This record gives sequence, structure tokens and C-alpha cells, in this order.
Amino acid sequence: MEANKRGILLLDRDGVINREQGYVWQWANWQWEEGIFDIATLATKRGYPMVVITNQGGIAKGLYHAVDVEALHAEMKAGFADNGTPIVDVFYCPHHPEHQICLCRKPNTLLFQRALAQQGADAARSFMIGDQPRDMLPAKRLGIKALYVGHKPEAMYDHRFDSVKAVYQWLEEHLPDQSR
Ligand SMILES: [Zn+2]
Repeated sequence: MEANKRGILLLDRDGVINREQGYVWQWANWQWEEGIFDIATLATKRGYPMVVITNQGGIAKGLYHAVDVEALHAEMKAGFADNGTPIVDVFYCPHHPEHQICLCRKPNTLLFQRALAQQGADAARSFMIGDQPRDMLPAKRLGIKALYVGHKPEAMYDHRFDSVKAVYQWLEEHLPDQSR
């Protein structure tokens, strides 16, 4: 661990913040995951800036546009801000391997590295919550603690959970307080 550097909390979007239901790009289809605001409140109280990292390959596929995603993320950020638990950054990859190869799409590590760098954060003190193996792989590569919600046997992780709510219960007990 690096002295004087704090950790951050990285969040996947679909399946962690909102219900996974195919491509979500309209606020009307947005449903908050149970327990996500408990996690946000705990992270904020314990001094962890929160950053969202999400693959939005639907942009490359032409299903929706970057402006749609950005409008949706503005609503999402407003929801967190209203809870008193602001999201400091949202990074999304607009690409899809059927259309172009990129460095930002998970499981690539680029957006994770960018989040750590912009927050001046220590990977070893940071946590990632995701519901796909591709969320876990970059976290594991960078030494970020990988919290996996799901059951896929190929997933690599540090801890596995059946629900976002169960992640909250674990964090309540295990998330170090770096607020002072
Ligand atoms: Zn990309």
C-alpha cells in the first residue's frame, strides 16, 4: 500500500446500481438496485469517493447515442446527490468489439487506471463491485479488491455475494474507515 493515499469505491452500473435488464438508456427503464444507497451512504461516511465504470457497447451498435447515456448518467448522479452521496466520476466505454477494438472496454484496465489516477487513489485500498467476470478481472490485475455479485464459475474475485444488499452487509463490517 502507498502511504497517505486513500482508496476509492468503483462501481459497475447495470446489475449493481440499477437492475440488469438488457440495454438501459432511458430513465423510464431505470430501477435502482436494492441496497445501493446503503452502500453509497456507508462509502461516503467512511471516506471513499465513488466512481462508476460501465461498458456501453450499445452506442457502437447504434442502439442509442452517447447523449442518451450522458443524460441517463446525469439522472443517476442526481439520484446519488439527492441521497447526500455524490458520485465523483462516471467513465463509460462507447465501443464494441464487433465494430472496433479499444483499450477502454472492460475487462481492459484503462478506465480503472484513469479513475485511480484522477482520484490520486491507492489500488490496494480500493474496492470494485461488479456482477460480471469482466468487472473483476481488471480489479484483480490492478490489486483492487474485487467484490463479485453473481455465480459464474469463471469469475475471479476476492469475495462473492448473492446480492448487492449482501455486499452492503459485508462492507458494513469490513470497509476500513478512512474518513479521518
Ligand atoms: Zn472502449
